[in-house]
Amino acid sequence: LLDLEAATVRFGARAALDAVDLRVAAREIVCVLGPSGSGKSTLLRAVAGLQPLDSGRVLLEGADRTGTPVHRRGVGLMFQDHQLFPQRDVGGNVAFGLRMRGARRAEQTARVEELLELVGLPGAQGRSVATLSGGEQQRVALARALAPRPALLMLDEPLGQLDRSLRERLVVELRQLFGQLGTTVLAVTHDQGEAFALADRVVVMRDGRIAQSGTPLEVWQRPASEFVARFLGFDN
Ligand code: ATP
Ligand code: MG
Repeated sequence: LLDLEAATVRFGARAALDAVDLRVAAREIVCVLGPSGSGKSTLLRAVAGLQPLDSGRVLLEGADRTGTPVHRRGVGLMFQDHQLFPQRDVGGNVAFGLRMRGARRAEQTARVEELLELVGLPGAQGRSVATLSGGEQQRVALARALAPRPALLMLDEPLGQLDRSLRERLVVELRQLFGQLGTTVLAVTHDQGEAFALADRVVVMRDGRIAQSGTPLEVWQRPASEFVARFLGFDN
């Protein structure tokens, strides 16, 4: 579904992404791990079209999307600081991407209802986002990202601000949800446990490159390098 070919992004002399090749199959859940500054967010931004490439290509469903603007790529995005629109109610937030695409009102209403049920907040349409707990806000942000049925959903530290027990519960729910919807997911997390619980495949980054890619079990049992072994060991 996603094919990143030799994607390179430079900031001055430094390559935040250094000729990265990455393929993500349809329905696959891939989690990107790596130290701070290793290029994880840049990778997601490049795939989303928020960060232009200096060289390389982004293919989505076989089509070259390297120069396609973000709103036409058919990708969903959710960042750590999920930034709900405080002046809109929950329904207005979830419907945002649908409105942008000119969906009819009845269609928006039905889809919002369906999504809020999906993320475990049935009937919350009219609530003010200021009255929601952190975890509830995170669910609304997720519903908003899922609303336009993105071919690829990208999550940058989606559960970053939540406490551990809530994160652990949400990760299990998310995995179920993505399986049920058939969503393809590329997610960044700092938390190894989260990555291992969520992912079909884990990608470990170092200095703008992919140090290892494999199933959680493979990466855990056979780290490809001293770096990966140390990273996994120290990050626990
Ligand atoms: P973290 O875990 O801290 O979020 P990350 O792996 O997401 O880190 P990136 O945000 O992708 O790291 O940044 C990769 C490198 O590129 C870092 O050295 C960062 O300072 C640099 N960088 C990212 N964005 C910019 C920018 N807009 N201008 C200059 N340098 C940038
Ligand atoms: Mg980041």
